[in-house]
Amino acid sequence: MIILRSLLVTIVLCITNMSFAANPEVAIVHAGTLLVTPGEEPVYERSIIIRNGVIGEVRRGFVEPELTTTTETIQVIDLRDSFVMAGMVDTHVHLTIDPSRTDLSATTNSDLAVLAAANARTTLMSGVTTVRDLQSANAEAIFAVRDAVATGMLAGPTIIAAGESVSATGGHGDRRMLRTDIAELLQTDSICDGADDCTRAVRAQYRKGADVIKVHATGGGADSNGKQYSVPEMTDAELRAVVETAHALGLKVAAHAHGTEGIRSALRAGVDSVEHASWVDKDIISLFLSTGAALVRTAYLQDYFLSRENIPEELQESRRDRNELMDPGMLEAITSGVMIVMGSDAGIMPHGLSAREVVKYVGLGMSPMQAIETATINAAVLLGMEEKIGQIKPGFHADIIALPSSPLEDISQLENVKFVMKAGVVYLDSSD
Ligand SMILES: [Zn+2]
Repeated sequence: MIILRSLLVTIVLCITNMSFAANPEVAIVHAGTLLVTPGEEPVYERSIIIRNGVIGEVRRGFVEPELTTTTETIQVIDLRDSFVMAGMVDTHVHLTIDPSRTDLSATTNSDLAVLAAANARTTLMSGVTTVRDLQSANAEAIFAVRDAVATGMLAGPTIIAAGESVSATGGHGDRRMLRTDIAELLQTDSICDGADDCTRAVRAQYRKGADVIKVHATGGGADSNGKQYSVPEMTDAELRAVVETAHALGLKVAAHAHGTEGIRSALRAGVDSVEHASWVDKDIISLFLSTGAALVRTAYLQDYFLSRENIPEELQESRRDRNELMDPGMLEAITSGVMIVMGSDAGIMPHGLSAREVVKYVGLGMSPMQAIETATINAAVLLGMEEKIGQIKPGFHADIIALPSSPLEDISQLENVKFVMKAGVVYLDSSD
């Protein structure tokens, strides 16, 4: 519930040294239960004071605006009956991809941008206030949507985008599986062969405006070269060139890898995160720990595939087997202290369901608090935004969500977000 007090007033609120000059928009959120920092116990009856989209202060009790004589718009938001926390972060999405769109032959780059804008809005409304977009069919479409969201023109989460993914010829990121003469017409600057060429491919994404580099170290889960014992699709020298070039440009690297050898090669090359990381063993867990790389599991995806109608029994069985075989490795990664970061692969599954990934982690052996950390403070570290997102503290973005009751008792509450604020702007409020 929002009470707008747009009066000829200003607030004093005992907030010292805070200037109201530049932008007088002030919001006060009354939080019944507040998770300030995931990993620490929640606190009760707090007021979050927000100015210019940034958290200014968190005060004890439910403070009311004190009125004086200057024009000021004060938003008082009543979440006294709610569990309030930082917005979720999904570090593996594809906003330009949608599972309901199967015929892409006539899709233009403009279509992709419109689709991404719609998916961004859906994602935000589910309580996800930051995403990392790890591969778009067209870089300019996702960068345009990213920039429009950043200016407030479009409703969506903050988008950290890779653009097109770097991949070897014929690799998982090479979408030109067509007759050779047609494939050659569709030459793309993100496909590379040899270390120097991969340096060029990374720089090409950087030139277009990439915030992060996505590289394909192995095939996809459904490909013949994305299996447990498949060899990597890129050489060690190519992977090293990708990482060294990206890091020199100040960009992190996310490596898609399913098979054990591909995960190992990516970690040895120094990537910042491994996406999917389906088949991990003890040696790989040690490599994760020694390099500090994050594991972005996309674990709910298998359940989504199984939940779809008209899946042949044979395929269902193989997916169930796959889950049973992969889950012990994930449990070992969790208990060993590998940094797990939430990533759902939304786009391959429908957008707006990212919370199911967090719920899935509890099913795989995490405590609810650990699972929440993957989607907040751990994700913030992976994105290099640990001073900006993932907590409700002064100086952090006012990216705030509310749930009817505590996800620490019932993690599925994360699927029931009833209030979303991003950068101080309320996008969803069904808290009445
Ligand atoms: Zn993906």
